This record gives sequence, structure tokens and C-alpha cells, in this order.
Amino acid sequence: MSKTAIIIGAGPAGLTAAYELLTKTDIKPIIFEATENIGGISKTFNYKQNRMDMGGHRFFSKSDTVMKWWTDLMPIQTVPSKDDILLNREIDLSKSEKEQDPNKIDDVMLVRNRLSRIYFLKTFFDYPVSLSFSTMKNLGVARIIKIGFSYTYSLLFKREEKNLEDFMINRFGKELYLTFFKDYTHKVWGVEPKDIPADWGTQRIKGLSIIKLLQQAVKKVLGTNKQDLKQKNTETSLIEKFYYPKFGPGHFWQLTAQKIQSLGGKIEMNKKIVKFETENNIVKSVTDDAGNKYVADYFFSSMPVQDLINGFDKKDDVVKDVAEGLEYRSFITVGLLVKDMVIKNNTKLKTYKNRVPDDWIYIQEREVKLGRLQVFNNWSPYLVKDYENTVWLGLEYFCNENDDMWNTKDEDFISFAKKELAQIKIIKEEDVLDGCIVKVPKAYPGYFGTYKKFDIIKDFVNKYENLFLVGRNGMHKYNNMDHSMLTAITAVSNIINGIKTKDNIWSVNTEQEYHESKSDNV
Ligand SMILES: Cc1cc2nc3c(=O)[nH]c(=O)nc-3n(C[C@H](O)[C@H](O)[C@H](O)COP(=O)(O)OP(=O)(O)OC[C@H]3O[C@@H](n4cnc5c(N)ncnc54)[C@H](O)[C@@H]3O)c2cc1C
Repeated sequence: MSKTAIIIGAGPAGLTAAYELLTKTDIKPIIFEATENIGGISKTFNYKQNRMDMGGHRFFSKSDTVMKWWTDLMPIQTVPSKDDILLNREIDLSKSEKEQDPNKIDDVMLVRNRLSRIYFLKTFFDYPVSLSFSTMKNLGVARIIKIGFSYTYSLLFKREEKNLEDFMINRFGKELYLTFFKDYTHKVWGVEPKDIPADWGTQRIKGLSIIKLLQQAVKKVLGTNKQDLKQKNTETSLIEKFYYPKFGPGHFWQLTAQKIQSLGGKIEMNKKIVKFETENNIVKSVTDDAGNKYVADYFFSSMPVQDLINGFDKKDDVVKDVAEGLEYRSFITVGLLVKDMVIKNNTKLKTYKNRVPDDWIYIQEREVKLGRLQVFNNWSPYLVKDYENTVWLGLEYFCNENDDMWNTKDEDFISFAKKELAQIKIIKEEDVLDGCIVKVPKAYPGYFGTYKKFDIIKDFVNKYENLFLVGRNGMHKYNNMDHSMLTAITAVSNIINGIKTKDNIWSVNTEQEYHESKSDNV
């Protein structure tokens, strides 16, 4: 009889695990998803045919395996998108012989350019901050001199990198850190950078520094910065092109779910797994919140580590305490449909009706709680019901589950968000046509709380031979979609190859080499 695998969660990691099992083994997967949505935090919310991406998900990866995975399932456009046609804009289309025209078919991956800038002092700055002429002009001579001196000081007197503040000051100098990073990091995480371990910087900002920013700026000016979509020589924060499904990331994951079902895999929606029954080093069964028990040979979990440990039948107090002390950051997106924006395109890029060209904008203004602004028209013109006459915005607020922001009534929060955007002169309140709100719990696993003792949990779960922790919250790791997928791909490959260690799963997105190695099979 063929073996079975229970997969917890229909997000990118869970869906990838199921697809890999179906296409590479004879193990039969069944996914249990707690909500009514496919895609996890990479879902797309459809509000009256205006589609909202929770966070703005770029599809790019330094892993060839993932790039191929995405584009095999959803081919790249061969014909320009609606906005590129309207603007007569040239883009890198696929040369495939089979026509993939986003104006006629839906299951198609668009090629998009990334632009994201910082909005501060009611004007735009490059992101990542560059030391360009316009930055100097906007900041003023006195601040620039201070930045120069403090950067030189940071080069001469390196700090021991005990936390994120040290990490950033070592790379950017204290003044630039105070101007652009300190308050924003606090907005996102709700804690000061000095209370966040330096690991976070290593993983997210990686090799970025003033020197890298200057090199990138010079290459831009000299026009020697042409990259293909894998952009292997580009630091993560500088990646400039990406793929994007016509209707947002949820569209891609819906398509994957359909593929899984057509291959014989099962997906059970609205079933939350709450209990794990174990015997020696084996997980025997799981139980859902309605009390139904399911047995299987393998278990893949992309549910938050905290909930997983909480559901275990046997665990000691230390493991329990570390799991309970893990922290998360949640976030709220307010969708606002507006007639027009007050801010206009001040770049050389061509845009429709002279709208701003940014995919998203980091809001550094200190007088508002707003953290980031998505301009969905620029992600895909097909996300917006009436692209020509409206702009569809996503206002992102970072918060904690059950704090004041989280508990504010939806309509009050929408009107508060509207006011904030008008206050910093991005829109006029009277131009707002409609609005909606979506709350995303546990959007970010925190690298604070008991995270420093996370190895205790790792050792505990690694003991269970047939249990595989995968994904972002599933491993309490700041994984993007590609990393989340690679953890699932590696776990399935371990089963196929009889590899018992889980170390290669944990090391995805930790060891830089995996990005670069073309021959690896993850
Ligand atoms: C603001 C923001 C921007 C981002 N931008 C990008 C980007 O540009 N590019 C990129 O690649 N990635 C991006 N990401 C990361 C991406 O969203 C995640 O890496 C990815 O969704 C993680 O996939 P996952 O399957 O591990 O987890 P999730 O997406 O969280 O899915 C887990 C699933 O498990 C379900 N579940 C939880 N508990 C249970 C339970 N007990 N029983 C059953 N089901 C359960 C959940 O409902 C959910 O559907 C971004 C994330 C955020 C927050």
C-alpha cells in the first residue's frame, strides 16, 4: 500500500511539499488548511475585483530550481501587458513559441520592473538610500557632512555586532542610521534595533553597505548594470526585476492547488490541526479542531512553531517555555481606491497619466503610523478593476495581534488610514472612492523574545524522524516564498534519498552558497 503524508498549511511551503511528493514519489499527500484561503500569507484578497497582495510579493529567486518551478507552472508572458502597451514601453518578454498574452489568458507570469523609494520630508529618496545628487539636495549640506563624518568614524571604529543597531551603524554610519533606519525599524518591529539580534541584518540586508550602494549607483550611471531575472550578483535588497502572476501571488498558489488536486492530492479547507500524538521518535497522528484524528507515515508542518509545540502530547517544560516565548509581528493592510494621487511622477520613467512609478513606497514620515504604501497598479495593471481611471493602494501597518491598532473597528481604521495618507500629502481625502481592510496575524516571525534559545526547539523536533518543519512560521525563520519552497523541496528530497538529518532543511536561507550553486538539487 502506498504511503501517506499529512501536510499542515496550504501556503507556499505546504503546496510545494504536496506537489513535489506527487510528482517525485508515490506518497499520497493530504493538506489540512485552517482557513478558507489558499496561499497562506501569499494569498491575494479580491475586493470588488480590485485585488490586494498582502505585502507585495516579488517572484524572484537566486535558486534556478525555484525560478523553473514557478515558470513551468505559470509561463512567462510573450506579449506586453496592458500598461506596457499603453505606454509603448519595452520589456524583456519570453521568446517562447507558444503565445502567452496576458490580455487574453489568465495563467501567465508578468515581467515587472521594481521601483520602490522612501517618502520622507514630503519628498522621495532612493531605496536603498543612495548617495546621489538628489539625496544630498533633499537632506541638505549640514546633514550630508555629518553623514560623511559618522560613516568615516564607523569605518575606523567598528562595533562588535551584538545587535541590529551595531550591524547597521557598522555599514552605514550612525547619522545615516538615525536618519533612515532607526525609526522605520521600530515601526516595523515594534522594538528598538538594539533589541533585535544582528542575525536579522545578516539574513535580510546581507552584504548591503555604503560601498555596495555607491558601486550600484556608479554602475547605474555607467549603464553596466544589465541583469537577467536571476540577478545572482545583486544583493537581495537591490533586485530590480521580478516575475509577477497576472492576478497576484494568490493566483499562482491557486493554480498550484488545482494542479495538486488534478494529480490526485487532497486539500481539506477549514481544518485546523491542534494535536500531535507521538510514540518514541515517531509522530503517529494529528487531530483537527473538530476532534477528527488522522494517521499518516509522514508529517510536514508549516503552522507556527509555537502552535505546533503547544499541540504536542509530550514535551518538557523548557521546550514549552521557549515556544511560548516566541514572538511575532502582525500586519494590517488597508485597501484604498482613489481617483488620483497628489504625488506625481518626478522620475524619467514613463508612467500612465503621470502616476508615480513605484511598486511600493517606504513611509519614513515620523508623524504617521503608516509603514509602507503599495501601488497595486504598478504591480500588475490587471489587479485593478478600472486601471485607467483609478489607483488601487495598499496602506500597510505593522502591529501586534490584539494591540490597539489590531482591535480598532474596521471602519474606524479605514478612516484613520485615509486621514494619515492625506496628512502626508499623498492623496486628498475627497478622492477616496472605496476602502477595505485585511488583517494578517503572525506575518513576521520575531528574532527576539526567546528566539535566542530556538536551538532547544530545533533539537526537540529534529528527533521525530517522520516530521518535517518547513516554511516561514513553520521554522520560525524569515523565509521568503523561495526559501519556504526550498525547505519543502529539500524535505521531500531527503525522504527520497533516505537522508535522515534535517540540517540541510534548516540551512536553507542561512548558507549563502545555496544561492550560488547551480548544481545543487534543492
Ligand atoms: C509583508 C510581506 C511581504 C513579503 N514579500 C515577499 C516577496 O516579495 N517575495 C517573497 O518571495 N516572499 C515574500 N514574503 C514572504 C512570504 O509571504 C512567505 O515566505 C510565504 O508565504 C511563507 O509560506 P509558508 O507556506 O511557509 O507560510 P504561510 O504563507 O504562512 O502559510 C501557512 C499556512 O498554514 C496555515 N495554518 C497555520 N496553522 C495551521 C494549523 N494549525 N492547521 C492547518 N493550517 C494551518 C495558515 O492558515 C497558512 O495558510 C513576504 C511576506 C510579508 C509578510
